[in-house]
Amino acid sequence: MGKIHELDNVLANQIAAGEVIERPASIIKELVENSLDARSKRIDIIVTKAGLGELRVIDDGIGIAEDDVKEAFKRHATSKINTRQDLFRVQTMGFRGEALPSIASVADVLMTTSTGGDAGTMIHLHGGKMTDFAPAPARRGTDVTVKELFFNTPARLKYLKSPHTELSRMVDIIDRLALANPDVAISFTHDGKELFRSAGNGNLQQVIAAIYGVKAGRKMLLIQGEDNDFQISGYVSLPELTRASRQYMTITINHRYVRNYQLSKAIIDGYGSKLMVGRYPIVVINIDLDPLLVDVNVHPAKREVRLSKEPQLSLLISDTIRRQIAKQNLIPDVGDKA
Ligand code: ADP
Ligand code: MG
Repeated sequence: MGKIHELDNVLANQIAAGEVIERPASIIKELVENSLDARSKRIDIIVTKAGLGELRVIDDGIGIAEDDVKEAFKRHATSKINTRQDLFRVQTMGFRGEALPSIASVADVLMTTSTGGDAGTMIHLHGGKMTDFAPAPARRGTDVTVKELFFNTPARLKYLKSPHTELSRMVDIIDRLALANPDVAISFTHDGKELFRSAGNGNLQQVIAAIYGVKAGRKMLLIQGEDNDFQISGYVSLPELTRASRQYMTITINHRYVRNYQLSKAIIDGYGSKLMVGRYPIVVINIDLDPLLVDVNVHPAKREVRLSKEPQLSLLISDTIRRQIAKQNLIPDVGDKA
């Protein structure tokens, strides 16, 4: 017998989980993205002990039919793409079919789901092994509870930071998801206390105010710009309203939060000399573009994307911001003495 053999499924999933599920916040990201892909209008996130107790995401989306429930927990099983062509035109947040099997391989997972007919399904997995599968109430949507995170990967568990840090990473991800999806009502409750709620009425400025404060919400300028390939829209803060870190800038591409150094730099360039050294604006912009212009399959967690025509987009971003700020300066009495 040769020395080379295929890894068993649970082990393969645990290895994949190493890339996708780094910490409690990654679970929230993956579950909420699934809820968004399921066209949910309302998503409630309930966590205890910074994720080391329980992480629960409840949505009112399309649910999973009974026949598909076990499939959803298989690796590379997805309803979101079929062909190679689809991969170049991804419109959904997910497509790799890795999140659910990865999560299930390193935790205890209970899911109840229903497509809204007269039945629902419950599935329970522990460390990647199914322990229960049964009918459940027919409430349309999906409810996933994750417990005992990293119980079987002690190194991962040890690597986690303090509860305070893990919680703030969760808050950060939830903020970005809410900013990227103002038309979805998202709530976050931690240890019984509601920390965040968005109305889901499509009003981005309101979401900004809910996250960065009402005062900040009032000092935002609406921006809009487009060229042949890109449409950008969102809010940027008046130059008088700045923060000491770049993390208050949120860029989404087709409503997916991404980190991109060049595009962040383009935003700052748009302010020209109006920003003091070491100060950064509060910005939330979305860029709509043909999915063919962006490769989202660069990073397992899809934080980074590769863009064609990045220089052209950078120019559009800085020009749009520059113009809007210049216009603002022509209006007397905006009270930018603060
Ligand atoms: P991916 O999102 O990349 O397809 P996942 O492992 O996250 O992979 O999910 C597998 C499949 O399970 C999805 O393609 C989808 O069909 C289904 N699914 C997961 N979460 C939900 C949800 N909240 N509502 C409806 N379907 C879901
Ligand atoms: Mg997914």
